[in-house]
Amino acid sequence: MLNSRKKKPADCNLSQTMMSGTEEGKMICAHQYYSASKPRIGTFATDSMALFLRPLHICKNAVKNISHYLPICHRRDILTGSCIDISHGLDEEQLQIQKVALDFAKNELAPNMQKWDEEETFPVEALRKAAALGFGAVYCKEKFGGTGLSRLDASVICEALATGCCSTTAYISIHNMCAWMIDEFGNDDIRQKWIPHLATMEKMASYCLTEPGAGSDAASLTTSAKKSGSDFVINGAKAFISGAGKSDVYVVMCRTGGGGAKGISCILVEKGTPGLSFGKKEKKVGWNTHPACIVSFDDCHVPQSNLIGEEGQGFTIAMKGLNGGRLNVASSSLGAAHASIEKARDHLKVRKQFGKTLENFQYLQFRLAEMATQLLASRLIVRNAARALDNSDPSSVALCSMAKLFATEECFKICNDALQMFGGYGYLKDYPVQQYMRDTRVHCILEGTNEIMRLLVSRDLLTDR
Ligand SMILES: Cc1cc2nc3c(=O)[nH]c(=O)nc-3n(C[C@H](O)[C@H](O)[C@H](O)COP(=O)(O)OP(=O)(O)OC[C@H]3O[C@@H](n4cnc5c(N)ncnc54)[C@H](O)[C@@H]3O)c2cc1C
Repeated sequence: MLNSRKKKPADCNLSQTMMSGTEEGKMICAHQYYSASKPRIGTFATDSMALFLRPLHICKNAVKNISHYLPICHRRDILTGSCIDISHGLDEEQLQIQKVALDFAKNELAPNMQKWDEEETFPVEALRKAAALGFGAVYCKEKFGGTGLSRLDASVICEALATGCCSTTAYISIHNMCAWMIDEFGNDDIRQKWIPHLATMEKMASYCLTEPGAGSDAASLTTSAKKSGSDFVINGAKAFISGAGKSDVYVVMCRTGGGGAKGISCILVEKGTPGLSFGKKEKKVGWNTHPACIVSFDDCHVPQSNLIGEEGQGFTIAMKGLNGGRLNVASSSLGAAHASIEKARDHLKVRKQFGKTLENFQYLQFRLAEMATQLLASRLIVRNAARALDNSDPSSVALCSMAKLFATEECFKICNDALQMFGGYGYLKDYPVQQYMRDTRVHCILEGTNEIMRLLVSRDLLTDR
């Protein structure tokens, strides 16, 4: 019986501990020895489960109203040292929003992240609970059901949610990007039709830019949309589409005109439209709580009224969407890195080697300090870019690119280093550090690779104005 097995001390010989053994005929794996001996530290403050079970919607006005539901807003609901306090520099309203998101991450996401990853579950129920808190259309206008928050607020939310499940937060981020594109560039009929349902996540959205032959050079895309009567007829294929098959609406960049960026338009395609089909689910290293597939269009008729913005404006819309998307993906990296530092710190305090806990070794102390410094610098650059986007700063594109480049690379390194601090245990799926590492790796690749981020930043520097 597992619960009757002998406890191994935390400083037991590593090679013995790593070997699976048998006891009373049962196989016992390394992590079971380890967790049986590990004191429980680092538990969170009292949860506020009741809070998000209320049909609470965090629109600007609601935020003012929720303050009386909230317990005193603890600045340090996440426990790590004050130098990387996740709430540092936020105003009272943002602290409240962050508290709700952190509680949701702790109660709804973190307990399930391993299971959802292993079983590749798309957690519809949890997504809708997140939406009930206002996380489905965070920076859409309130008029049609959006939450009406800022990009900085969205960053704070994504960071907090990702502490509980980075992959699920990433889907929320993509969904929010699509909702914003519809809200910002669609006409009132389209907004009225989609935003209320996207805000509640009764309907989910996917972003379709990449093609098998057009990745970094997205403006070379070839999926065509030709007019026929009152319809567009779409032909072509999109690759790597997150949420494909599960989402209800696809925000598709198609060629309606000549070559290059100016010939691209943005068109909505609803699930169930004849001619729309999905390829096999890709097998991914991380981001396993939502599918990614090829999306194919084979003489797919959609009404011309599904056009978002003007004809030929699609590439601009796609790129503007990505400014926010890049911030949110970078923010998700922050959350994963923060959680990884916490877990590594807790591990250093209990794991004994050479007769003392690992926290006593100066190399590991210094490495932890460097990780904390990388995290804080990443957070500052992300929040700086979010403020720039909120203020329509002319340098927003470069600042969002810098933030994505810096934060996703530094935070991936943090997650990887946290894994290293766990030694062999870090490589086991029983411990979440490997999942944060796997989930953040792709942030350096998608929403524009980090090489393309360098290109965008250098273009800003080198262009004569
Ligand atoms: C898990 C996952 C989910 C995704 N979800 C979506 C989604 O929902 N919607 C969507 O539209 N797309 C999605 N993507 C696609 C993603 O945005 C692309 O993979 C990415 O833009 C890179 O394109 P590519 O894979 O074709 O690589 P390529 O463009 O072929 O690039 C290959 C390598 O060459 C480098 N490179 C290319 N051009 C240059 C250059 N000029 N200078 C220097 N280096 C260069 C790249 O940086 C990269 O390292 C997803 C991808 C993944 C892996």
